Order: sequence, then C-alpha cells, then structure tokens
Amino acid sequence: MDPSLIDLQGLETLLARLREAGYRVLGPVVRDGAIVYAEIGGIADLPRGWRDAQAPGRYRLEPTEAPTLFGFNLGPQGWKRTFHTPTKPFSPGERGWGEGPTGSGPTDEASDPTKPLSLREGGWGEGPAAPAPIPTALIAARPCELAAIRIQDRVLKEGVYLDPHYAARREDTFVVAVNCTTAADTCFCAGMGTGPRARGGFDLALTELVDEQGHRFLVEAGSRHGEELLAAIPHEPAAAAAVEQAQALSRQVADAMTRRLPGGDLRARILERLESLHWNAVAERCLACGNCTQVCPTCFCTTVCDREDIVTGATWRERVWGSCFDDDFSYLHGGRVRPDIASRYRQWFIHKLATWHDQFGTSGCVGCGRCITWCPVGIDITAEAAALLGERP
Ligand code: SF4
Ligand code: SF4
Repeated sequence: MDPSLIDLQGLETLLARLREAGYRVLGPVVRDGAIVYAEIGGIADLPRGWRDAQAPGRYRLEPTEAPTLFGFNLGPQGWKRTFHTPTKPFSPGERGWGEGPTGSGPTDEASDPTKPLSLREGGWGEGPAAPAPIPTALIAARPCELAAIRIQDRVLKEGVYLDPHYAARREDTFVVAVNCTTAADTCFCAGMGTGPRARGGFDLALTELVDEQGHRFLVEAGSRHGEELLAAIPHEPAAAAAVEQAQALSRQVADAMTRRLPGGDLRARILERLESLHWNAVAERCLACGNCTQVCPTCFCTTVCDREDIVTGATWRERVWGSCFDDDFSYLHGGRVRPDIASRYRQWFIHKLATWHDQFGTSGCVGCGRCITWCPVGIDITAEAAALLGERP
C-alpha cells in the first residue's frame, strides 16, 4: 500500500477508531516533568510543543514554539512495563503461606491456631493463570522501541522459558509507530540498525511533517490490520515530495547522531577483554544503583519478593523487576558470584553487547540511550565500549 497523508483530524479519528474497536490506547503524555506512556483520550493528551533535552545523567523537558505532537524522543519508560510489568503478584494468600494447591480461602494452618505456619504442599501457587488479553494500542512507539519489543518477544514469548503473563499481554497489540524527526544527544539507533526509521513491527508508521503546507502525518501501513484501519479514516495519497521529505528527515536525524558503538566483531573484541582493568575504572564511578537496567527496554531479569499487609494480614508473593547490579542478584548457596561492582558492570555490559548474540541471536542493545541519560553519574555505554577497546569515543 502506498504511503498516505492524514491531518490532525485524521489522527484524532484514528485514535477514536482504536478506542471504538475496544483497544486500551496508550501514548506519550507529560507527567511529573517527563514524557511517559499512559492511557490517552485524544490528541489533546499528547505532548504538543515539548522536546526532551538529554545528555549523560541529564533529562529535561523544554517547551518549544513548534506545534509538533512528537517532537521529543524517549522518556524513562519503555513499553516494557506494558507487557513485562514491573510487578506481578503470584497467588494472593491469607495469613500464612499462600493458597497452596487447594485454591482460595484461609489455609488449614491459619484456621487452626494450634498448628504452626508452614509452607504447604505444592508451595506457592501461580495463582490464576495468565490474565485475559487486554487489547492494547501503542501510540508513538519509536523505531528503537519496536526493536526492543521484538527482542523481548524472542526472550519471553518465543524462547525456551515462556512467560504466559507477557504472552497474554502481547497477544492483541496494535502498534502505531512514529519515526523520529529529531535525535537526543544520547541516541545511537542509527549505528545499531534499529532507527530512526521503522522497518517493521508496526501496523501503522507515522512521520510528522510540519511546514508551510500544514501539520500532517505521512502514514505507512505495515500490516493488513493497519491497512484496514487506515481505510476507515480520512486520508489522501501522499505526493512523492511528501515521501521524500519524510525520508530526508530520517537521513538528517541519522546524520545528527554522534554516538555509536565501536565497529568490527564487537562480540569477539569484548570477550577478549574479560580481565581488562577497565572494569575497575568503571566501578570507581558506578553506584550499582541499577537505573540502567530498569530503564533498558530489553532487560528482562526478575526476582521474587514476599509481601505482607500488616493491616489485613494478607500475604502474597510477587515477581518484580530485578537487576544484575543488585548485591544479592548472583547469590548462590552461600556466596555471591559477583561480589563487587566491577564484576556486575562487566556482567551487564558483556551480556548486552556480546553473549546476548549467543543466547538470542542479536545484540541486547537497541541504541535507545536511556541507560546513558538515566545513569546518575552519566556512565555512557558507547564511551565505555570505546575505552575498553582502546578507541576514542
Ligand atoms: S543498553 Fe542502554 S542504549 Fe542499549 S537498549 Fe539498553 S538502555 Fe538502550
Ligand atoms: S552504570 Fe550508572 S545507572 Fe547503571 S548501575 Fe552504575 S551508576 Fe547505576
């Protein structure tokens, strides 16, 4: 299907059609000084006239004179939290140790005060199986984020260990991508081959065009579902000039990116430096806070926490996002495999850029730059890679 043009009213209609079709429509909004993803009712909720200024350890929203709805790049949240949620309760339990194998209601032990509390046969149940799918439309997914979703699909939906919770949430997703027309200082998707123009993984892809001809969006359909939705909203064929304008914007954005990972066989070059002293140099700055793993759209590790509500007495166990920077993340039968920050940073870095290829067939990094922006001390994965390999960043 050839590219089309829609105007602001067309975009409003697109959002309305998605809601009418039963989708929960999530898109970018300004909240607490950042752009985050939340449920939106229409284009009035979008961050019109905002840009994000990003640098290592720095993120600021700045108002602009431009009427753009998508004149920013990325906030701290990726779409990861929509599908691979930060917390996921296992079974709810009464006072004691959860439901066990017999289902809901107080446990026998909790009912009988003469019996000690104990882990019941069957242990902690999974609770109800995966949730019913929630049809979800993502508005303004950036190209690097589409690549990140593809990676998480491979790990959590198509790998050896399936996550039914993730799979259910992903089952009915409509993706409206927005190609980037600006690049943050921390972006490096061009070097990773994941942006700034979406190449797949979307139902519709928009490029925002603002010029003397008005405020319009070039629309490309990436699926039959996308074609059907486009057919249901007012649109017109895009002139060749508009298509060229959109492609030129993508080229400008790619050319504007100053960051890039070192070239060559990066995996092999990194694995040759497992004992480099550079890991110690990074550890002198790294706080092991784990921010980089929480904002990374491909990191998927979790841990398990036990919770208790002291008012109601309810107890439950839940899965929460973990981090390989956590002190006890590598704890195994009496000791930590990675007791110091140098070994933890090395683990994260090498998994992202080298051994991820062995496990999942791609890099674990899509070049979104979030770990650079949200690292409180501004540690930059591209600069550390260059330093490790003895190159100038
Ligand atoms: S490692 Fe950093 S730049 Fe790469 S995908 Fe994760 S957050 Fe983005
Ligand atoms: S690299 Fe930065 S964000 Fe990551 S753990 Fe270290 S200090 Fe925190």
